[in-house]
Amino acid sequence: MHLINADLHCHSQVSDGTLSPEALAERAFAQGVELWSLTDHDEVSGQQRAREAALALGMDYLTGTEISVSFIGETVHIVGLGFDAENEALRAGLAATRSGRRERARQMAAGLAQLGIAGAFEGALRYVANPDLISRTHFARFLVDSGVCPDTHSVFRRYLTPGNPGYVPHRWAGLGEAVRWIRDAGGVAVIAHPARYRFTPTEEYALITEFIAHGGVAIEVVTGSHSAAEQVRYTDTALEFDLLASRGSDFHSPGESRTELGTLPGLPGRLKPVWGALQQRIQHARRRPFEATPIAVHP
Ligand code: AMP
Ligand code: MN
Ligand code: MN
Ligand code: MN
Repeated sequence: MHLINADLHCHSQVSDGTLSPEALAERAFAQGVELWSLTDHDEVSGQQRAREAALALGMDYLTGTEISVSFIGETVHIVGLGFDAENEALRAGLAATRSGRRERARQMAAGLAQLGIAGAFEGALRYVANPDLISRTHFARFLVDSGVCPDTHSVFRRYLTPGNPGYVPHRWAGLGEAVRWIRDAGGVAVIAHPARYRFTPTEEYALITEFIAHGGVAIEVVTGSHSAAEQVRYTDTALEFDLLASRGSDFHSPGESRTELGTLPGLPGRLKPVWGALQQRIQHARRRPFEATPIAVHP
């Protein structure tokens, strides 16, 4: 089970990636991915296309999303896997989570304008394929292409992170809400890239224990945003809290992403892979014609 090349975290044009769901499926398959999930930020509108493209290639598929959550003043990302993408409550929750993005983007542009960077709202919009999902990444691409910064990482460092002029604090979904939307749609909730949050050990403990109390069951251990040392650290965390482990590149764009689809190391053998608990979902996704049948049982 550990030997499966699973990549359960990446982004398409439906959020802040640059490839279509179909192009991502082909790229994942070409990289040897056997089990794939497209996890667009706060969106499931690419799910049907991703699943059809994956299955046409002979690659297994799990539905996915990455929900933006506010937890004790920090933004945390919760990945959902293996849910019913037609679930009304999940869709409504994601729509509500997306709803403030346009106004936030206008405020970000106003902050940048004060520094003399004009037209950032319209500029970022040129990179947006889904008008419902303007993200900081689209601003970053605009600022790189217009010569303000050499690469997206320096845009984030200089402009788009807390304490910098293009950063606008935002209230996302609650942790309990996000986990409940995923669970009630039959899926499993996963803490995304845990090493990325600037938490003290006490705050991180609070995140993990509250996540578990709400019904969350898994954590990303091997991800494009973790160093080797962080993989070791979160292997211990997964074992300590008896969490299932996930693996995903967090691929966004060729040339921009640090990690290619399907190329990360495997999960350490001591961990229980999250896809072990999702075998029924994987079987379900293989069915043709594609059904949106609600999935009855929690894994
Ligand atoms: P948003 O949901 O609009 O706040 O945008 C968050 C997205 O910005 C993340 O999913 C990443 O794709 C991207 N991002 C955040 N921090 C960085 C960074 N330091 N370098 C590059 N991309 C980043
Ligand atoms: Mn992103
Ligand atoms: Mn994320
Ligand atoms: Mn992501």
